[in-house]
Amino acid sequence: MRYAAPATVDEAQTLLSDNPGSQVFAGATDLVPQIRAGRPSPSMVVDLKRIDRLTAVTHEGGQWTIGAATPTADLTRNAEFTAAFPGLSEAAGLIGSDQIQNRSSLGGNLANASPAADSVPALIANAGQAVIASGDGTRTVPASEIATGPGRTSLAEGEFIIEFTLDDPPAGTGDAYLRMIPRTEMDIAIVGAAVRLTIADNAVSEATVVLGAVAPTAVSVPDAAAALVGASLNGGGFDDATLAAVADAASAACNPIDDKRGTIAYRQRVAGVLAKRAAAVAAERAQNGA
Ligand SMILES: Cc1cc2nc3c(=O)[nH]c(=O)nc-3n(C[C@H](O)[C@H](O)[C@H](O)COP(=O)(O)OP(=O)(O)OC[C@H]3O[C@@H](n4cnc5c(N)ncnc54)[C@H](O)[C@@H]3O)c2cc1C
Repeated sequence: MRYAAPATVDEAQTLLSDNPGSQVFAGATDLVPQIRAGRPSPSMVVDLKRIDRLTAVTHEGGQWTIGAATPTADLTRNAEFTAAFPGLSEAAGLIGSDQIQNRSSLGGNLANASPAADSVPALIANAGQAVIASGDGTRTVPASEIATGPGRTSLAEGEFIIEFTLDDPPAGTGDAYLRMIPRTEMDIAIVGAAVRLTIADNAVSEATVVLGAVAPTAVSVPDAAAALVGASLNGGGFDDATLAAVADAASAACNPIDDKRGTIAYRQRVAGVLAKRAAAVAAERAQNGA
C-alpha cells in the first residue's frame, strides 16, 4: 500500500484519478481499524490533512466554511463556532475521546456512513452543505445526500469532500444534540437526536429534527418539526402536548435494527424521549441567545 500526502485539492484529484483503488483519509480513526480488520484494502491512501483548505475554518459573509479534514477538537475548542452551533459542537465533542477528537473529522464521520455517526444529525439539522471535489471541478450537495446506507455514500470514485458550508443561523436560533449510549464513555449511539429551532415572538418559527442510529442513514422527521412550529414557550418551555407530539413523531420515524445493544422497541421509545429533550435544550439556547 502506498501513502500520498498532496498539498492541494488539484494534486489530490490527480492522484486519485491516476491511481484507481486509492482511498482518501483524514484522521484515519475509522480507516485504520477497518484496514487492520481486512476491509478495505486500498492500493494507495491519500492523506487529506496536508491540504490547507481541508483543515481551514473560516467565518465570512454570513457563512461558515469548515474544512472536511479539520480535527473535531478544533471545532469544540472554537468559541465562536460553538456559540453559533452549540449542538453541532457538542455532537463533535462526543466522538470517541480527546485523542480521537484530535484526529477525527466531520468529513470522515459523514463519509464513513455509519448510521450512528454523532456529528451527522446535527450537521443535517443545520442544513450543512458539502462541497465535493469532483472530476476537475467541484459540486455542492446537502450533507444529507452523502450517506446512502451503512458504509455507502453517493460519492463517486475519486470524489472527496473538500469542506462544509453552514449559513449563520437566524437570530433566536438554538440547536442541540443528545445521544443514548449503553456505557457512559466511548460507545456508539443507539439513538442520537438533533434539533434546531428558531424562536420569534415567543413561538417557534422554524424547526428541524434529525435522528441518528435508528435507520440505515440519519432521518429527518418533518412531523416532529411541524409539531414544534407555532408552539409557544410558556414560562420558557413547551407544553406537554407539544413535547408528546414531538416524541410520537420521532418514534414513528424510526426504522431501527434489533441487536444486543438495543431492541427496536427500545430505540423507538428512546428516540421520542431524546427528540423532546433536545427540543427543550434547543429552545432554551434559542431564548438565551436571542
Ligand atoms: C475509539 C473510537 C471511538 C469512536 N467513537 C465514536 C463516537 O463516539 N461517535 C462517532 O460518531 N464516531 C466514533 N468513532 C468513529 C470515528 O472516530 C469517526 O467516525 C470520525 O469522525 C472519523 O473521522 P476520520 O477523519 O478519522 O475519518 P477517516 O478514518 O480518515 O475516514 C473515514 C472514512 O471516510 C472517508 N473520508 C474521510 N475523509 C473524507 C473526505 N473528506 N471526503 C470523502 N471521504 C472521506 C475515508 O475514505 C474513510 O472511508 C470512534 C472511533 C474510534 C477508533
